[in-house]
Amino acid sequence: MNSSPEAVIIGGGVIGCSIAYYLAKVGVKVTLLERGRIGEQASNAASGVLSASSPDDDSPYGRLTRESLSMFHTLHQELRESCGVDTEFAQCGELSVALSDREAGEYQAYARRQMEAGSPARWLDHQSVHDYEPELSPSVLGGLLTPETCRINNQRLTGAFAKSAQWLGADIREASEVVTLMRSGLRITGVRIHDEEIYGDYTIIAAGPWSKVISELVGSEVPVRPVRGQNINLTPVRGSIRGVIHGSWGLLVPRNDGTIIAGATVEEVGYDCRVTAGGVRDVFNVATEIVPSLADATLNWTVAGLRPGSPDDMPILGPIPRWDGLLIASGHYRNGILLSAITGKLIADHIMGENPELLDHFSIRRFREQPAEVEA
Ligand SMILES: Cc1cc2nc3c(=O)[nH]c(=O)nc-3n(C[C@H](O)[C@H](O)[C@H](O)COP(=O)(O)OP(=O)(O)OC[C@H]3O[C@@H](n4cnc5c(N)ncnc54)[C@H](O)[C@@H]3O)c2cc1C
Repeated sequence: MNSSPEAVIIGGGVIGCSIAYYLAKVGVKVTLLERGRIGEQASNAASGVLSASSPDDDSPYGRLTRESLSMFHTLHQELRESCGVDTEFAQCGELSVALSDREAGEYQAYARRQMEAGSPARWLDHQSVHDYEPELSPSVLGGLLTPETCRINNQRLTGAFAKSAQWLGADIREASEVVTLMRSGLRITGVRIHDEEIYGDYTIIAAGPWSKVISELVGSEVPVRPVRGQNINLTPVRGSIRGVIHGSWGLLVPRNDGTIIAGATVEEVGYDCRVTAGGVRDVFNVATEIVPSLADATLNWTVAGLRPGSPDDMPILGPIPRWDGLLIASGHYRNGILLSAITGKLIADHIMGENPELLDHFSIRRFREQPAEVEA
């Protein structure tokens, strides 16, 4: 291998673009291939909530979420300095609202445990919760406030990763669909798009739910599946909300422009990425149940995206067994925006030979994948 490795990334969503950025930062020659436009799939449809696991969750996934969230506190400035894009990062807090005595009891007990563990999470009673978010429905009994939760404009984030990577020398190509993985023996040597072959020491599949289709080109099977989510964007006529409002039903997320994103459906409908009347109705109903004044809001847009789901809802990261030089970064399911920062960093560290310990926990090997025998 050359002293400076070369990498080919398949997919220009938030995950592929973050990997491109972190690789370009450490001097890797990067080519990113996106079959459509950068960030136009799930990374466009997302709500932009950055909500990590609580501090008492010391599982690898809990650590992954917290490390990634903490990276954003400096990353957003770093991206703004390198490409001029304001990603609208803000620590806005998250309020999980209780609509029944049972939920209220659970949140209060949870808040007590969190406070004992040193977390700033706290329970807001009926009066406090309505002082905190005046537009809430009177039927909200109280809420669990998690001040660490942040938000970001996911479209801008994906664009900022891509632009910053480009500024560092990465070749970012749109309208470039990968149709073949090239190989020499058991080494993947690059990809083919249209009539062009692009070579690399490492090929990274970051194609969201389509990662499965790409891995099958070499007889491997990455167990990701599409899970549709629909969101709507509203301009409230009365005051907006100050932070993320969360319930078992979904989320409301304020944006810098004064609009609110409401979502999201969770639907197992294959690769069907349509916005449906029923999906918009469901999202709208839950939004107005929590903030009734939204019934009078202007409906600006609707969107649908396919989350890359995995069998345990956790990402699949690192080398794909049997094939030298082939890596996967997918399966981020409902947290791909949050986990984009740590994913880019871990994959770059791996390629630079650092073998980060966290990466091992998210290896595809946990599914005991048995790649089909393929003629070398
Ligand atoms: C409604 C909704 C709300 C969400 N809210 C949040 C949230 O608040 N916070 C959070 O952290 N996450 C959220 N998510 C999840 C998050 O959006 C995803 O986990 C994340 O966007 C996945 O990024 P990705 O880059 O893996 O996939 P994608 O964004 O789907 O990108 C994959 C790219 O690969 C390209 N591609 C596919 N095949 C090929 C090929 N053969 N050649 C070249 N390119 C190819 C596709 O065109 C696509 O652009 C939400 C998702 C949805 C749908």
